[in-house]
Amino acid sequence: MLIDGELVGAKAGKTIEVRNPANGETVGEVPRGSAADVDAAVSAAAKALPAWSAMPGSKRARLLHEAARKMREVEGEVARLLALEQGKPLAHAKLEAARIAENLEYFAGLADKVRGDYVPLDDPAKFGITMRRPVGVVVAITPWNFPLTLMANKLCPALAAGCTVVLKPASTTPLATQRAVEAIASAGFPPGVINIVHGSGGEIGDALVSHPRVNKIAFTGQTETGKRIMQLAARNVTRVTLELGGSDPLIVADDADIRRATAAAAIGRFFNAGQACLAVKRIFVFEQVADEFTSKLSDRARKEWKMGDQFAPDTKMGPLHTEHQRAEVEAQVQDAVKRGARVLAGGERPEGAGFEKGWFYPATVLAGVPEDSRMATEEVFGPAVPVFVVKDLDEAIAKANATVYGLGSSIFTKDLAKARKAAEQLEAGYTWVNDIQVAYDQLPFGGVKQSGYGKEHGIEALEGYLEKKSVVLASG
Ligand code: NDP
Repeated sequence: MLIDGELVGAKAGKTIEVRNPANGETVGEVPRGSAADVDAAVSAAAKALPAWSAMPGSKRARLLHEAARKMREVEGEVARLLALEQGKPLAHAKLEAARIAENLEYFAGLADKVRGDYVPLDDPAKFGITMRRPVGVVVAITPWNFPLTLMANKLCPALAAGCTVVLKPASTTPLATQRAVEAIASAGFPPGVINIVHGSGGEIGDALVSHPRVNKIAFTGQTETGKRIMQLAARNVTRVTLELGGSDPLIVADDADIRRATAAAAIGRFFNAGQACLAVKRIFVFEQVADEFTSKLSDRARKEWKMGDQFAPDTKMGPLHTEHQRAEVEAQVQDAVKRGARVLAGGERPEGAGFEKGWFYPATVLAGVPEDSRMATEEVFGPAVPVFVVKDLDEAIAKANATVYGLGSSIFTKDLAKARKAAEQLEAGYTWVNDIQVAYDQLPFGGVKQSGYGKEHGIEALEGYLEKKSVVLASG
């Protein structure tokens, strides 16, 4: 852990073992923190806050740029740790590790651009101004699927805004985050500005979320955990940003470029073994192109998404992260099949050398999935996708919106009117038209409905770490 500028163990002396999802072997350990460690980290962040928030934005920007430089020096090491503990292919882990420095630089560019307004008032002897102040001590809690990206999405805007931070990574993926944070902190941030604690969410979550010195919680994870965090945060009226689950629809219209649509559907569903909030989780295809689309997507699933060890150069899909994750996806697929769905690709655990000990599951495509089945109504957090046939855009949009989630959404069409209608009517925080689901630094990202609220990415992310304060000035 990193608390008040020092690398420390847990006060109780306990540790957590970290395992490789491809073979179950132990690959490292971190301290298993308790409420006492949380209190030490939050107290350090609170102590560091006045000086850090008073530091000129340009000086904070320089530190963030230096942190990006330090991060690039260890990117290879961090990527290796990420592949080892998370299970994703090394090439994809490298892409993710590289995102940290990019994110640091994006928010470094904004750190000295925070400013307020001059506001004329009715009384000519007075005027108002608005100023923006950092919200204060931020607790950032992150999941295991994209541990580095999701950590950086919180840490970088918080630091740029002048907040101090206590990070809590998922207990199954703490190693890469710990190494990255050590590199970032070595850029010269004052002690207590960046802290990291480890521990089980079930054990230290309450202490983190309901600590009276915490001013904001930035959380990414399951909707159920988010609801609990919101309840606990209410105790001290602590601000929350919640990036929660999704069940993103992809609509394929009759005029779509089928090659591009199948490529986007496959990447959108199978990248990271389907364990992405923004994954394509339900496909709605117009009946005129349904056969062609489904057979080409199934071909891609069978031929292009090679499973294997995360360090083998030709692996495109590693194991699922835990035994529980695989069991969930299998149960969702089996539920659909029992109720009449047809498996067009995948659907069975691989056998043979290399697959005995890991949580592998293949790229899977299903048709004829009942609309009230688990696959259609729950978030599927693995590489299995149902394809539903629809007659037109109205039906596609109505079915796409028939979910409690509202994170991402996509449409493939050459018709601008259809694209516009989808963008306006799909209940989601993002709509991609004829493109793969990539979240851009420059565009705000966040969910609606039970996918959460608040934004990450873009200038809007910085706003989430600032309070607007009004000041009235009268002549003395
Ligand atoms: P969880 O909600 O189980 O865990 C997320 C984090 O919360 C972990 O650090 C976990 O710790 C911690 N946690 C668990 N219980 C508590 C608690 N009671 N109080 C405080 N913290 C707690 O989510 P997963 O790790 O399973 O992540 C997958 C989910 O995240 C999916 O639903 C996915 O869609 C969503 N997600 C959303 C994104 C978005 O931007 N909208 C992006 C990526 C994922 P520990 O590991 O120790 O249990």
